[in-house]
Amino acid sequence: MLNVGDMMFMRLFGTNGIRGLVNKELTPDLALTIGSAIGTFFNSGTIVVGHDARTSSPMLAEAVISGLTATGCDVLFVGMAPTPTIQYAVKTHKVDGGVIITASHNPPEYNGIKVLWNDGIEISREQEIEIENIYFGRKISYSKWDSIGGIQPLSSIIDEYIEAITQHIDVPKIATKSFHVVVDAANSVSALTIPKLLRILGCKVTTINADINGTFPGRLPEPRPENLIELSNVVKSVGADLGVAFDGDGDRSIFVDETGQVHWGDKTFAIVIKHFLSANPGAKIVTPISSSTLIKDVAEAFNGEVVWTKVGSVTVSHTMKKLNAMLGGEENGGIFYGPHQAVRDGGMAAALILNIMAETGKKLSEMVEELPQYYLEKGKVDCPNELKVQVLEKLLEDMRSLNISTIDGVKIWFEDKSSILIRPSGTEPIYRLYAEAKTAEKARSLIREYDLKLKSIIASLKSASTN
Ligand code: MG
Repeated sequence: MLNVGDMMFMRLFGTNGIRGLVNKELTPDLALTIGSAIGTFFNSGTIVVGHDARTSSPMLAEAVISGLTATGCDVLFVGMAPTPTIQYAVKTHKVDGGVIITASHNPPEYNGIKVLWNDGIEISREQEIEIENIYFGRKISYSKWDSIGGIQPLSSIIDEYIEAITQHIDVPKIATKSFHVVVDAANSVSALTIPKLLRILGCKVTTINADINGTFPGRLPEPRPENLIELSNVVKSVGADLGVAFDGDGDRSIFVDETGQVHWGDKTFAIVIKHFLSANPGAKIVTPISSSTLIKDVAEAFNGEVVWTKVGSVTVSHTMKKLNAMLGGEENGGIFYGPHQAVRDGGMAAALILNIMAETGKKLSEMVEELPQYYLEKGKVDCPNELKVQVLEKLLEDMRSLNISTIDGVKIWFEDKSSILIRPSGTEPIYRLYAEAKTAEKARSLIREYDLKLKSIIASLKSASTN
């Protein structure tokens, strides 16, 4: 996560843009220079800028805007808004790019800078390298005094974004159901869009953690089940039809059914796939290789084609664009609905789930009940970074006869529908193991088997290197 600390390796960007501890790693000085490098990269275009609800976000946004305008870019300033709202602004206002100040689901002392291309999707690794080269090579190109950029507010975007979502669902049908929905906005930006959207859909809305507060006093901004106990209790006590929780910047949403049960994102993604493929047979479904076999089962049962990608939301977006695919998803609650925009969008996901509930007349618990059930087990094995590549090569030698994918680490699918994904961590000297099976015991036994296999490969490589 501490990408700013990686500067000795001449990297600014990590897997999620630039992230760091505010005023330790990510200071206003740094944000100003990064803003100038981004502005030089865009070469005096027009850039949308927005930020999340963190205490440091206005400060860092001002610094980035200074850098952008100093290098001749005009800025359309959204102010505080969810990440997908800012992405939608970039796409619809026909600008050259965007910058979002956010650290998504990280704790409140962090912040970050994401750079968007003119389609609202984060820039590619190659484009990040161009910005890093400008930054580290001190190639910033400041404008003359008479061509410094201007700043205009873009205050209409919240309403434009909500309106855009309603274009993709059956609003009158949802409204006839008068759903009662509990929204947990994580004291952050989703409070600006979701209650308003749901009221347009005729829902009765109860909110928790809806006062915006950059210290996130209500709960941690990662919507993991253990952080959603209050939401679950409120859904039960008010007798709501649905609960929905967002991450810190509103691009991911996790749902709670009417019994108070929290469902992880692979379940809700599978429900969206089913509905989408019923209307779009044969469509491509884009998802990272780490996703559950549930996704494959449901997509294939409804005549869809799964396209596996490397792990990471930007890769899913870029793959959707390349293949003109209209649906993508991640198990952490990220749904990418192409007809709206090919990026994760928590508001669009909530609208889709309500649309499906209205069209099928089913409760969320009933729809989850219909899905195939899998059990997940995780493991990790210590492995020195310098051995990671050889370990993977050695592992693959033994596996030629198996059904495998090497898109990201190695994933093996077995005949009995169990699977295991073995991936080197990008940040720690370990391999991570994710096993999935029809029984918990089978998943545990896969972890045990591959834990031993990896340890023996690592031991033999270590002894070979010392001999
Ligand atoms: Mg996020």
